[in-house]
Amino acid sequence: MQNLIELNKNDLEAFVAEDLKLPRFRAEQIWQWLWQKRVRHIDGMTNLSKPLRERLMSMATIQWPEIARVQQSKDGTIKLLLRLGDGKLIETVLIPMQDRYSQCLSTQVGCAMACTFCNTGLLGFERNLSYGEIMGQILVGRQYLEDQNMNPLKNLVFMGMGEPLLNLETLLKVLNDLPCERGLSLSWRRSMVSTVGFPDKLKILGKLEVALPAISLHAPTQELRAKIMPKAAKVHLNDLMAALKTYPMRPRERITFEYLLLKDVNDSLEQADQLARLVDRRKGKINLIAYNAVEGMPYGAPERGKVEAFEKRLWDHGLTAFIRRSMGSDIKAACGQLKADEQQ
Ligand code: SF4
Repeated sequence: MQNLIELNKNDLEAFVAEDLKLPRFRAEQIWQWLWQKRVRHIDGMTNLSKPLRERLMSMATIQWPEIARVQQSKDGTIKLLLRLGDGKLIETVLIPMQDRYSQCLSTQVGCAMACTFCNTGLLGFERNLSYGEIMGQILVGRQYLEDQNMNPLKNLVFMGMGEPLLNLETLLKVLNDLPCERGLSLSWRRSMVSTVGFPDKLKILGKLEVALPAISLHAPTQELRAKIMPKAAKVHLNDLMAALKTYPMRPRERITFEYLLLKDVNDSLEQADQLARLVDRRKGKINLIAYNAVEGMPYGAPERGKVEAFEKRLWDHGLTAFIRRSMGSDIKAACGQLKADEQQ
């Protein structure tokens, strides 16, 4: 049985033409039912004739990831634990903004990068998510917000479980289909791909102009990065920064650098100076995130005063830097805390 949400736009067109032997407009209709109207049953596609729906039902189905658990934080952040078709669990997080929500999406089950401050990294890598499993998170998120009469979903960040650029082929299919007007209608300008940074893959992303990257930097020197992100640091920091220099951007666009402040590890003023030397202030901006201490992990939360002093020092160097509110820490939905586990 073909799960229809596993077919990207091109594949759905091919399926309709070759397997169903139907004209192209039928693919458009089915696409709209799946992604814009969010039907869960083929029988709900009421502009297809009954015999056609029956034929389609004999060949295909619609299977969304299933919500296994919902947790809501005091700050309004919502974490959904989702069960996939093979029983694997992933998490997606809905983050309240002023008048809308932003959704943090997972791209892999577990992660191979093993960053030492990250819960997902501890799980190790299990598998890549499929097209339908990534897009399905958006369907579930949108539906959840609508059912609860909450603000609409407008922004996406590929910042959940996994390293998106290690699932690049599927990620590109997803990014390609996001803006489709009869589909999800989400602009990629409102989408951000968070990565530890692979120069060859960043080049592909940049060439296609389908998303802006957010680089998980977290250390201002190669030496420290190798300690806290040993696998990511296999790409030397100099090579990463050189690749970013040529990343195609429009005027006023900047690359975001994510910097997770870990107590007494990377939060000193000297390290702020080093960071300012590393990042080109005309092309980059810095998001500072104060780490939330997690039981069993070897890091502590930085002191508020130190976080503020770090931010100020970056501004003194002429850099744009903001302390990001760490959302959902009480439900373990903040950066580095995702760990799909029904026991937690
Ligand atoms: S921080 Fe990101 S890249 Fe590093 S282990 Fe966690 S999920 Fe993977």
